[in-house]
Amino acid sequence: MAKYIGPVCKLCRREGEKLFLKGTRCFTPKCGFEKRGYAPGQHGKTKQGRSERESDYARQLRAKQRARRVYGVLERQFRRTFSVALRTRGMTGLNLLQTLEMRMDNVVFRLGLAENRAQARQLVNHGHFVLNGRRADIPSMLIKPGDTLSVTEGAKKLTFFKELPDYAEKRPCAVWMDRDVKNLSGRVLRLPERAEIDGSLNEQLIVEYYSR
Ligand code: SF4
Repeated sequence: MAKYIGPVCKLCRREGEKLFLKGTRCFTPKCGFEKRGYAPGQHGKTKQGRSERESDYARQLRAKQRARRVYGVLERQFRRTFSVALRTRGMTGLNLLQTLEMRMDNVVFRLGLAENRAQARQLVNHGHFVLNGRRADIPSMLIKPGDTLSVTEGAKKLTFFKELPDYAEKRPCAVWMDRDVKNLSGRVLRLPERAEIDGSLNEQLIVEYYSR
């Protein structure tokens, strides 16, 4: 499955704000945005001054790109997710965010079992999780309320997972989930409400972008 393999901090610099894509490093002076808080590229510094004259299209594009980068989804898959949201009953923008939140890699991250979504994606890809007792290794797989996710018995013998409870304990768990850090498992209780999803994402602009 395709994934972005370029420089990660560049994505934050492009969006003009910290997206916290790397986990703990994002909170240290090593953060790429702290060191160079301007857009990447030859004209990065001068481009930032143009933000006041942004067109509607530019704002819609940036909102879409920002969401894509936060969830680590490439364009084609993001567009497909939007089509699913469009066909689902209710508000398209909220449907889109809820669908992104229910991706398996995001659920692992929200449970606190990974430092960031990229790591969650890798852990899932490597087959370290079971969903309702059955092996599941597709990061884009959508989880439903009531589903239980846990680390496989085999993976629990690995050093990484032996140490994970200590780290996971310190990480927050989304309120729409229930987790058992000791057993490295969790259950999705319900769909997240809008207030429980990243408030800096602008789903309205994303809907406008795809409705052009
Ligand atoms: Fe973004 Fe984190 Fe890199 Fe800072 S360290 S630029 S917040 S990904």
